[in-house]
Amino acid sequence: MPYRQHNSRSGGISRMPIDRHQIRNLLLSRREALSRESALNGTETIELDQTRVGRLSRAEAMQDHQMALEMARRHEAMLEAIDEALDRVDEDPHFGLCDDCGEPIAAERLALDPTQRCCVPCQSARERG
Ligand SMILES: [Zn+2]
Repeated sequence: MPYRQHNSRSGGISRMPIDRHQIRNLLLSRREALSRESALNGTETIELDQTRVGRLSRAEAMQDHQMALEMARRHEAMLEAIDEALDRVDEDPHFGLCDDCGEPIAAERLALDPTQRCCVPCQSARERG
């Protein structure tokens, strides 16, 4: 956070150059954390299937299964987004520019989540549909 003080000269955070090296490291550590998590989930699911099926009602078991599936799906999607962002941070000269309007995505936003592909206004437009 010591960066903030140097910023008065450039006149705005949105033009702050992206630190690709830093973003890359962030992505790699997130990827590692996610892989560890998904490995844990995998073993847990197998144990649950074997020990709890007898006591749970069918509906509950189905619900558990659905939840596990949904979590696995989200995990997968997050890993994919991270891999994609890793490729882009290395090779894409447009990394950090909004997919929709081409304006730079705020560096702060990318620092929070480097897999973001559009700026705040476009993202909220997308979410509204
Ligand atoms: Zn945009």
